[in-house]
Amino acid sequence: MIDRTRGYFDRIKEKMSKGEREAHLKRRLSEILRYGYRHSKAIRSRFDAVGLTPKEVKDLKDLEKLPITKKADLVTAQKEKPPLGGFEVISKQGLRRIYISPGPVFEPGEWDYEDIRWAQALYACGMRKGDVVLNTFNYHLTPLAFMLDESLRILGATVIPVGPGNLPMQIQLMRQLYVTGFIGTPSFLMSIVEAAEGMHLDFKKDLHLKAAFVGAEMFPESLRKKLEGKLEIILRQAYGTVDVGCLGYECPEKKGMHIPEDVIVEIVDTETGRQLEIGATGEIVTTTFNKVFPMIRFATGDLSYLIEDACLCGRTSMRLGKILGRTDQVTKVFGIFIHPWQVDEVMAKFPMVANYQVVITRKEYRDEMTIYIELKEEIVDNIGLKRRLEEEVKEVLKVRGEVVFVQKGGIPDRAKKIDDRRIWE
Ligand SMILES: [Zn+2]
Repeated sequence: MIDRTRGYFDRIKEKMSKGEREAHLKRRLSEILRYGYRHSKAIRSRFDAVGLTPKEVKDLKDLEKLPITKKADLVTAQKEKPPLGGFEVISKQGLRRIYISPGPVFEPGEWDYEDIRWAQALYACGMRKGDVVLNTFNYHLTPLAFMLDESLRILGATVIPVGPGNLPMQIQLMRQLYVTGFIGTPSFLMSIVEAAEGMHLDFKKDLHLKAAFVGAEMFPESLRKKLEGKLEIILRQAYGTVDVGCLGYECPEKKGMHIPEDVIVEIVDTETGRQLEIGATGEIVTTTFNKVFPMIRFATGDLSYLIEDACLCGRTSMRLGKILGRTDQVTKVFGIFIHPWQVDEVMAKFPMVANYQVVITRKEYRDEMTIYIELKEEIVDNIGLKRRLEEEVKEVLKVRGEVVFVQKGGIPDRAKKIDDRRIWE
């Protein structure tokens, strides 16, 4: 049974001080490493590969000494040692569920779901005991909908396990059952809002929604603004993956995503696996404390950065900044990762820009970055604009680049946003 004493429910509010949090993570890390080493063949082999034992990995910094596990490693391991690849820890009780996540990866589910990370995220979104929540994530195969379902139980809220069903039905349920909370992807929420408008309903008057919790896909600011304009409710996003659960969630401040208490998140250099400094962009790598399927340094394939400064909401955890895309889309220039998303962010501030392309070349062992830009129409102060663009590039990408204006049509239609033309020989 789950030990629900010792402030289990109180912890949903995340009141730990910084010092308490550090001690808590250190203790849980040490526990899971010992446990995984003892009970999981795959985890033991990862220690053996680098000649270490759990005793020698005492804190977050020491974690660096262990190898990264990628999704592809899980898939391969499960093919070689079917069905679960040796990462699993199966008790005498057996498993509650076996989920099938994209990969495909088989994921054991525990009997007693005691992970409070999603509950912490839902709480920060304003969901409480007595709320009636529409869970529109798919209950088939993957664990996400179940994890959120269990987390709503922890909060004491009522769940409608509807899944991503047809829109008129969703809207009808929302009206009939006085639904106060929504869980799903932001694009599905938008579809519901548009369908309600199509039915000539006034979302604010005819429905009772107070809070919406979105995730599982990119949530651009433009979509957030649009939804906020239409709904006037609490709208928060969270980040996580089906393999490792919740890794970050927004609080009322909406300035990055708080890393929940019961997980370790590192931001690492994709090539070396070394931890990067606060603020630097790298891959999100996580260590979970799941005693059925522990993941030690699991690479998510997503890019972000850490925010350390104190949050006005009072939570003391570090935050993940924006999710900047996938590791397979990045280019490294001057040792810094740049991503098409960042270039988009720069250009969004310059409405006169019609099209652009970043080209990376190499001259005498030095990287060079040139940003070719087509303007909507000729402007007078080209030099001033060039300077402002270059400053913004430096600010957002943290890399210096030269802006070159080209004639209309000068950038081919299907050109890559970031074209890496470096030749390595
Ligand atoms: Zn906060």
